Amino acid sequence: MTPTDSTPTLAVIGGGVIGSMCALAAADAGWHVDVYDAGPEIRAAEVAGGMLGSLGEGHPGEGDLLALSAESTALWPGWIDRIGDRAIVTARDSLFVATTAADGEYLRQLADFVWAEQIGADRLTALRPREVRAQETALSTRVHSGYLALGEGALDNGLLLSRLRAALADAGVHWHRIHIDRVDEVPADQVLVAAGMGTTALLPDVSLIPAKGEILRLARNRHSIPVPTHVVRARVEGRNLYLVPRAGGVVVGATQYEPVDADDRRPQAGGVADLLADAVEVMPGLRTYDVAEVAAGIRPGSTDGMPIVERIDDRTLVAAGHGRNGIVLAPVTAARIAALLAG
Ligand SMILES: Cc1cc2nc3c(=O)[nH]c(=O)nc-3n(C[C@H](O)[C@H](O)[C@H](O)COP(=O)(O)OP(=O)(O)OC[C@H]3O[C@@H](n4cnc5c(N)ncnc54)[C@H](O)[C@@H]3O)c2cc1C
Repeated sequence: MTPTDSTPTLAVIGGGVIGSMCALAAADAGWHVDVYDAGPEIRAAEVAGGMLGSLGEGHPGEGDLLALSAESTALWPGWIDRIGDRAIVTARDSLFVATTAADGEYLRQLADFVWAEQIGADRLTALRPREVRAQETALSTRVHSGYLALGEGALDNGLLLSRLRAALADAGVHWHRIHIDRVDEVPADQVLVAAGMGTTALLPDVSLIPAKGEILRLARNRHSIPVPTHVVRARVEGRNLYLVPRAGGVVVGATQYEPVDADDRRPQAGGVADLLADAVEVMPGLRTYDVAEVAAGIRPGSTDGMPIVERIDDRTLVAAGHGRNGIVLAPVTAARIAALLAG
């Protein structure tokens, strides 16, 4: 779109998944948009597992967050069409698996008391060990029990970010690689601060809690077992582990440490050791994969666990604090920001 003098202008500070999706929603609504982004090095979305859905992160006492996640996940198919590349989707369903009787009981309680309110019984099936392994033949014979959850899929986070960037360019959005120090530096009618952990430096009243997480990327080689087709979410002797399919491998995640320094993005030996040990425990054939990447990122959490998506003043809005669910919650956040911009 070619802006005219009367086209309203929006500056988005932060080009992560939240800033990019909000920028695209605003451009589609007729705004002339500029994105100001400090670069990928401090971007949480660069290391994310890319899982969608509400169950995997569905902990007791977080009903509002689960409901918002379910609402947002339902919006993702429309966004995939908008972005225009179905290769972004790397899995459609999840298998939740337990490796001990205690882990199985933990999953059963989650399914009965937390998940049952989020998705219909037709989308969640309890499985015996043999039925679990029929879904993913490379799973360990140690698998005790499991659940198949339809519609709890995953996206390739890296591909998503690059396709979003291309869609923004096609929509006429200008991208500036720059670190912004003050909100009043950017010339625009409206300013959206969506700078992940960088948000507090721009809006001191928005307080965020950093939660560090490590992931591994394993790459398949010609001697390896095939890549799983489901997201595998395992409970291994009390620890949570996920294996997320990618085109040529698997993302293994994720640890979580709090409190941490907000700029501590160095993977720790202990976390990496646990992830590798649990991954080959759940799927022994992963031993044949190559270790392609070990990375850590900082999840930008809020104090109550809910994202902070609101108007700050006549000119300024914020979209931050998405914690461990920023990719899941991006569509619902973009819709909320578009509504706030529309007044
Ligand atoms: C290990 C790990 C696994 C995860 N797995 C999942 C998952 O499976 N599913 C899911 O939904 N979520 C997951 N997450 C969470 C998800 O990555 C975050 O919630 C999401 O990336 C937050 O998006 P954001 O755009 O707010 O922040 P970010 O992705 O961090 O992007 C912020 C952007 O703002 C820019 N910026 C910061 N300060 C400034 C400034 N002053 N000026 C200009 N630009 C600035 C940065 O350069 C960056 O590009 C995971 C996170 C981690 C760490």
